[in-house]
Amino acid sequence: MMAEEVFDLIVIGGGPAGMMAAGQAAGRGFNTLLLEKMDRPGRKLRISGKGRCNLTNIDDLDHFLGHFQPQARFLRHAFHQFFSEDLIQFFGSLGVETVVERGGRVFPASSDAQQVVDALRAWTGRQGAVIRCGIAVEKLMAAEASWLVQARVAGRRQRPLPIADEDPIPLHARAVVLATGGSSYPGTGSTGDGYRIAAGLGHQVTVQRPALIPLDTAGDVAARLEGLSLRNVELNLLVDGHRQAHAFGEMLFTHFGVSGPIVLTLSLQAVDALRGGREVVLSIDLKPALDHGTLDARLLRELDAHGKRQFGTLLASLLPRSLIPVCVEQSGIPADKPAHQITAEERKRLRLWLKDFRLIVTGHRPLAQAIVTAGGVALGEVDPRTMQSRLHPGLFFAGEVLDVNADTGGYNLQAAFSTGRLAGSSAARWLSAPAT
Ligand SMILES: Cc1cc2nc3c(=O)[nH]c(=O)nc-3n(C[C@H](O)[C@H](O)[C@H](O)COP(=O)(O)OP(=O)(O)OC[C@H]3O[C@@H](n4cnc5c(N)ncnc54)[C@H](O)[C@@H]3O)c2cc1C
Repeated sequence: MMAEEVFDLIVIGGGPAGMMAAGQAAGRGFNTLLLEKMDRPGRKLRISGKGRCNLTNIDDLDHFLGHFQPQARFLRHAFHQFFSEDLIQFFGSLGVETVVERGGRVFPASSDAQQVVDALRAWTGRQGAVIRCGIAVEKLMAAEASWLVQARVAGRRQRPLPIADEDPIPLHARAVVLATGGSSYPGTGSTGDGYRIAAGLGHQVTVQRPALIPLDTAGDVAARLEGLSLRNVELNLLVDGHRQAHAFGEMLFTHFGVSGPIVLTLSLQAVDALRGGREVVLSIDLKPALDHGTLDARLLRELDAHGKRQFGTLLASLLPRSLIPVCVEQSGIPADKPAHQITAEERKRLRLWLKDFRLIVTGHRPLAQAIVTAGGVALGEVDPRTMQSRLHPGLFFAGEVLDVNADTGGYNLQAAFSTGRLAGSSAARWLSAPAT
């Protein structure tokens, strides 16, 4: 009976990190059980990349690590062991061909995240790991030379079990990999259980915040611009009036504020600044390719060439239509003013607005809506060469449960796969020759 067997390894969580860890250890001959609380593994993986799964990125290692600041050093070894080319080759060997898209992003050629999930799950099983779904681990306890893994039936049963739903299921293993993911998109099963389990074992767990999250802005400007997407703009994050970070690319206005790639990139810094009670402002440079002098010359040319046109009409050559009323309002230049009557002072105001269109950030969307959770098991208590706990021999961590997060672009999944791989192979090595 499952409940009485002592496994070599129990992996908790059937995401990319957990499946990779389980397959790795099972492939080395260890009796491995993977417990997943949802009815099937890889639910978050299935929705990743808008259902297309941005698996990794072909950035070189140093650039890749740059997307993980400040946790980059911790991941170096895991990436040395198993990096993007290894992952691409790994999936290729499973029949998942990949393509490289804009920004070095790697996707399955099928554009189908489900294909990735199916291939990974099948591989994990072929390696010899037993996958049990609908079982949620609640607690981990270090027992004499082994681990007691206390679990419970969660949700729909895959098959009848000889226990009542409310009965705890005691399972034993010589080693454990905790790979329960973060706290966002709880419908995928990632509900932060691993943070509680790790804290219960005395591990320090840093505070969880949303990373890669849309931001709320003051007033009704964003709502009035809802649906507007700005491309090739520069977004500056101002904290207490100082430029703290910037990003170039695309952003989107929503009914509550702003979203889109460059907003997500800067969002964790905004979240942390807000948490610190600091003033957070987004400044959009709508004409980043033009310096102030060049932009002023362009505005002069436009005004001279179309002297009889009204200011509002003239703006159509400079801005998307929906931004025109906002520009008129915020620059203080009447929409019906003829171009030839616009003063040098007004032209300056327009130029400054085009280079520095500001939105005050008042908050952020909830953690449940974040692409990634920042915070987690503190890295100082985990050995980066093995992913083993520095507090408890035989306990390993992998994936987003760690205090690791990165930009969008395939970096987060690569981190999950690489740390999962390392945790699985380290657990196998430890099982061969346990050392405290
Ligand atoms: C909408 C969205 C899109 C994304 N797109 C991308 C992308 O394209 N590229 C990219 O690099 N990253 C992307 N990410 C981030 C990426 O999906 C995650 O970082 C990654 O899935 C983390 O892997 P993991 O294995 O650590 O955790 P998860 O994938 O979260 O898996 C953890 C698993 O553990 C299970 N579990 C939790 N608690 C328990 C318990 N108590 N007992 C048993 N099982 C448990 C969960 O059910 C879950 O299946 C996206 C995230 C979201 C939300």
